[in-house]
Amino acid sequence: MKTVQDVAKVVQERGIEFFLCSFVEMSGAPKAKVVPAHHLEDMAQGSAGFAGFAAGEIGQGPHDPDMIAIPDFDSLTVLPWRPKVAWVASNIHVNGAPWPYCPRTILQRQVTQARKKGYVLKTGVEPEFLLVRRNSNGTCEPHDPLDTLGKPCYDLRALNRNLDFTTTLLKYMYELGWDPYANDHEDANCQFEINWTYADCLTTADRHTFFRWMVRTVAEQQGCLATFMPKPFSHLTGNGAHFHVSLWDAEKDTNLFLNERDENGLSELAYHFIGGLKNHAKALAAVTAPIVNSYKRLIRGAPRSGATWAPVYITFGGSNRTQMIRIPGPGRIENRTVDGAANPYLAPAVMLAAGLDGIERNLPAGKRNDRNLYETSLEELKAAGIEFLPTTLNEALDELERDEVVMEALGREYGEYYIRVKREEWKRYHDSVSQWELDNYLGLY
Ligand code: GLU
Ligand code: MG
Repeated sequence: MKTVQDVAKVVQERGIEFFLCSFVEMSGAPKAKVVPAHHLEDMAQGSAGFAGFAAGEIGQGPHDPDMIAIPDFDSLTVLPWRPKVAWVASNIHVNGAPWPYCPRTILQRQVTQARKKGYVLKTGVEPEFLLVRRNSNGTCEPHDPLDTLGKPCYDLRALNRNLDFTTTLLKYMYELGWDPYANDHEDANCQFEINWTYADCLTTADRHTFFRWMVRTVAEQQGCLATFMPKPFSHLTGNGAHFHVSLWDAEKDTNLFLNERDENGLSELAYHFIGGLKNHAKALAAVTAPIVNSYKRLIRGAPRSGATWAPVYITFGGSNRTQMIRIPGPGRIENRTVDGAANPYLAPAVMLAAGLDGIERNLPAGKRNDRNLYETSLEELKAAGIEFLPTTLNEALDELERDEVVMEALGREYGEYYIRVKREEWKRYHDSVSQWELDNYLGLY
């Protein structure tokens, strides 16, 4: 654990002038206050206060007392683009007690419970994003007018036109010690992904939060907008944030998901974890695919490139990208339901709880699927007993409401709040008449 003294040393050595004392609310978008470096001691004691109601969905009304951000110095990150400023993730406290509506605190609670059982969750995340331009008439399009291929994935020429952008990010991540190891042009026009090395789930959640902000910052410096929105364009593939997951022994730091002798390279424990993810998949979706737009990504109707690459069914398989859980290699599993809008803290918190429930109840993973599920007929899916992920946010919320394990993971009070906020979001969406309705109904009825 980094102490105030450790940070004071970094301030000295690196000439840090300011901190950004930061936290996230339900959307996962970071909020912060600037704190001059000579107030480090005060900040550590909780000098950064916030009017929570103004910050977003974090369980506060305009009448509530200040929320206090208590920084966790293990997350200290010097901004690569402004090296005299350092960002630090915090936990929210109110009236001297941890605030049950703080997503980082919710994840830490799950991490602590898992550690008591001897487990550490390690995660790696693949947050995809699109570079877009907003026109003055409100419309939006991919930012590079030359990036027009029907199958743009891995296109070297489009990658080359964006090398300044992506290599800047790669250098920054390298400087931060995240060990980025690959970057590609993804399946939608102007869509990219950068992969970095996995870590314990809290470290990855902090990095995921910082990453989204860093990508947007660098994009803005280059005159465009980076968006992690799950499905910005109906004719293009959406933005996933696939989670690669493994459980490790808390004492020995060995991967408990690994079994070299198994056909998928997975242990019994890993199969039960998959059983848990499948058992709770419908409720998990309310958190891992958390907005109205998320469900426009989780479809099988192909965009222009030929495949959504996003899951629709609750299945697992080998390196098969048409389903919810892929096994990319020995000792880890990939949850492909998670999208760019998922809160970096809440998503792993609920996945961990669901997986551990699978282990505790010895839930089976079921049969490995190797088919192209986008082309499997409804009859065949039914015959194989394959279930569907929710098709709307509202449906996912119904599932969450019924799921004790996922609700407990969020904390009952927060879970109920989450459902209230999200139902309201659904209602606002549902109450607005769309262009599609006008195009299809106005002349007909
Ligand atoms: N963009 C796809 C998604 O929304 C994933 C493509 C991939 O497999 O990387 O999940
Ligand atoms: Mg990808």
